[in-house]
Amino acid sequence: MRILIVEDDPLLGRGTQAGLEQGGFAADWVRDGVAADASLSATSYQAIVLDLGLPRLGGLELLARLRARGDRTPVLILTARDALEDRVKGLDAGADDYLVKPFRLEELAARLRALVRRAHGAASAVLSVGGVALDSGAHTVTWRGRAVELPAREFEVLRELMLNAGRVLSREHLQERVYRWGEEVESNAIDVHIHHLRRKLAPELIRTIRGVGYLMARDTG
Ligand code: CA
Repeated sequence: MRILIVEDDPLLGRGTQAGLEQGGFAADWVRDGVAADASLSATSYQAIVLDLGLPRLGGLELLARLRARGDRTPVLILTARDALEDRVKGLDAGADDYLVKPFRLEELAARLRALVRRAHGAASAVLSVGGVALDSGAHTVTWRGRAVELPAREFEVLRELMLNAGRVLSREHLQERVYRWGEEVESNAIDVHIHHLRRKLAPELIRTIRGVGYLMARDTG
């Protein structure tokens, strides 16, 4: 799950990035509103963690710009404990959720998972497609009731395919969702993850659409 953190406090920014990475997210971190705006134009994120007090371009202004250009990426704002007015303004400007600083990383991770789920129209934490059940909260996968161990990247590739069941996803899309900037990525990394997923689950579960990408069929009936 690819997340953008916008936070000018270096300790908080770095800590949040490290914590989310440890929780299996691919998290990029920028320190001001202008850099965030540029990142959001270049990369598609599944959610944004947005501090409101930022240099160069404030969080509220960035949020307003984002929504004005029709970008509906879920946004969670970070506010100070007694800044009720900020929370109200943020929610009115199009934020989807908020957390008051200081916050627990577990709570941030759980709220981000919930935001991404809701953005895909899934109410439950457990995704279920074609005999596979994936629990984002517990980080577990079962195939026809049997537990399957998956490394973090394979888990993320599978989650993205399941969230988008019935849609063909390109390699580039999958790569963008699973890796952050600056990571060394082999050109066939996604194909290798798919190969392992097919071997651990079932070969027919993930289809290759030649020249386009990969598809997990939506359950019918
Ligand atoms: Ca700040």
